Amino acid sequence: MTETYKLFLERWRTIHDLEKVQELLDWDQQVVMPRKGAEQRGNQQAALAGLVHDRITDPELGELMDSLAAKGTPNEDGAADLREAARERERTMKIPRRLVKERARTIAMAQAAWAQAKAADDFESFQPYLEKVLSLTREMAQAIGTPNPYDALLDEFEPGMTESALKTLFGDLKGRLLPLLDKIKGATKPPGEAPVKRCFSRDRQEVFCRVIAKDMGYDFEAGRLDVSVHPFTAGTFRDVRITTRYDENFLNTALFGVMHEAGHALYEQGLDPERYRNPSGPSSSLGIHESQSRFWENLIGRSRAFWVYYYPKLRQAFPDVLDDVSLDAFYGAINVCRPSLIRVEADEVTYNLHIIMRFELESALLAGTLEARDLPEAWNTKSQELLGIKAGSNARGVLQDVHWSAGYIGYFPTYALGNLYGAQFMETLRQDIPDLDSRLERGELLPVKEWLNNRIHVHGRRYPAPELCRRVTGKELGAVSSIAYLTRKFGEIYGF
Ligand code: ZN
Repeated sequence: MTETYKLFLERWRTIHDLEKVQELLDWDQQVVMPRKGAEQRGNQQAALAGLVHDRITDPELGELMDSLAAKGTPNEDGAADLREAARERERTMKIPRRLVKERARTIAMAQAAWAQAKAADDFESFQPYLEKVLSLTREMAQAIGTPNPYDALLDEFEPGMTESALKTLFGDLKGRLLPLLDKIKGATKPPGEAPVKRCFSRDRQEVFCRVIAKDMGYDFEAGRLDVSVHPFTAGTFRDVRITTRYDENFLNTALFGVMHEAGHALYEQGLDPERYRNPSGPSSSLGIHESQSRFWENLIGRSRAFWVYYYPKLRQAFPDVLDDVSLDAFYGAINVCRPSLIRVEADEVTYNLHIIMRFELESALLAGTLEARDLPEAWNTKSQELLGIKAGSNARGVLQDVHWSAGYIGYFPTYALGNLYGAQFMETLRQDIPDLDSRLERGELLPVKEWLNNRIHVHGRRYPAPELCRRVTGKELGAVSSIAYLTRKFGEIYGF
């Protein structure tokens, strides 16, 4: 390793550490911080955001990178480190330090305001915060200066992705999903959701969720499970924390929520120990990240094979609750496909429509063709148009997700991308482990974890997401695999 490369890595690892402190402060805010602490937290986040900005834009770091670019990096990973560092530095150089700090402060306060507004079903109290986040985010997109401002934001979450590419991809997806949904709606013997809507004690749910997360390979000595308003995963490598929320009258919320977050966590825990603080070491795009969470939540967690093993255990965990429900009735109940209000609880088919709806709204918000005050109405109009239903309250409508309060505009599309990546990954996994279903039926989840570790996690961002996708699946990202999977699965359940 050359001296220059060593110095470059040293500096970058400090930036990584500071960013992880920011993430930890955010976890603290969402899990344990007292309600009145938001303003102080805003100041702390602004201070750290300023430090990170200083470090990334430091001219001495620039000199090290120039010298590495001129003399060459020691190996392939070094080249990936330089590529990723250059991408982040170039982006950060364009955003004024003042704006970065102001945005960090505003987001901390907006997230706190959102949590209260959601609890009180009071959009008006949140609106001024959202307006401020939006105006700072528009300013940031302008500073980055891509011809289309939305592309500047997308680039942070899914590097290289553009609004126009998404429009094409989502148009194709929507065009294939709607006829499938029609077939499902026309089924004469649809499964019922009643079995998962019985009374499931919160404590027993937690015990069961912990068992599943542990069986998936989630290391509780390098993580923890807590409760938050909106479930999320924070941290990396040997400190990866997940959160969930419990609904005693709906089993799916925590069960599939924990599998989702544990899927994210396995990715973080599975990074390369030698490289996770280097520029190319952390997890790849958010679309790849969501592919990991949605993979466990749905492709594994909502599969029949998985429940052949776990359903008897679930019955034991909730004595008397599911005694009269057969495995097939339970499998049907966790896969009921029906337009519903809450994105994170949506079935695999309608889920993507929730995303397309948010994508269309947030791109209008950013372009300024939709204003924050008109959002609740626009939300209901879109919901009616795409899902055929309207939220009765803002708490279950426009206020349901934390993302916009956190300045995550351009993030939602990555969930649908995750579904598409995941379906393609599953095709390769099934080629590599042809007896996957019988292994799942025996409760063997670790071969899946290890396959994901080796094929995806350990690379971090060694390859840009489209290249990682080609390497693992031999194909470009598209909707075909996902639609084939959904058609097969729901055709079986709904009998068409
Ligand atoms: Zn997720």
